[in-house]
Amino acid sequence: MRRYPRIGVLALQGDFREHRLMLESVGAEVVEVRLPKHLRDVSGLIIPGGESTTIGKLAREYEIDEAVKEKRKKEGLAIWGTCAGAIWIAQRIIGHQQPHLPLMDIAVRRNAFGRQVDSFEALLEIAGLNTPFKGVFIRAPEIVDVGSQVEVLSRYQGKIVFARQGNAWATSFHPELTDDARLHEMFISTAKN
Ligand code: GLN
Repeated sequence: MRRYPRIGVLALQGDFREHRLMLESVGAEVVEVRLPKHLRDVSGLIIPGGESTTIGKLAREYEIDEAVKEKRKKEGLAIWGTCAGAIWIAQRIIGHQQPHLPLMDIAVRRNAFGRQVDSFEALLEIAGLNTPFKGVFIRAPEIVDVGSQVEVLSRYQGKIVFARQGNAWATSFHPELTDDARLHEMFISTAKN
């Protein structure tokens, strides 16, 4: 019996290695997902930060987008998009036409924190965590609107940076670029065995 579910990390582009290391540091089995068949035995999928247009195009080319949607519908695949990944799973991307899933009832605005401050760190209060979490923001999107099924778990300067719809999560920031594995652990526990 495996102690943890097997978690996939979409490995088409972006910082998937950092997610892999973080998941492994808390004992998860990790599968790098590049083709639909790699989704077979995973119960959760993380979409990394990177470039959402590239991730969207490659996912369409390799037909991973349809495979993810189907697996979510049939088996309740847990899903977590970080930064570019959050853009890919959003229902609406304001001002951009680009391939995306969509899976979460959220609207996002890309690069929403201004050009002068492309990258920054900020301590975030996150619902369900006792102490603040270091948010690493890199040309980060803002979640500008959420549907009625979506909970807001964190805001920074009034902007939504963490939202959850059942076992689908979207974070504007990059927990994989810290040494704090709490959110990865929480995500693993939401993915069914
Ligand atoms: N700005 C990127 C995009 O819009 C996301 C940046 C990131 O993932 N760090 O796709």
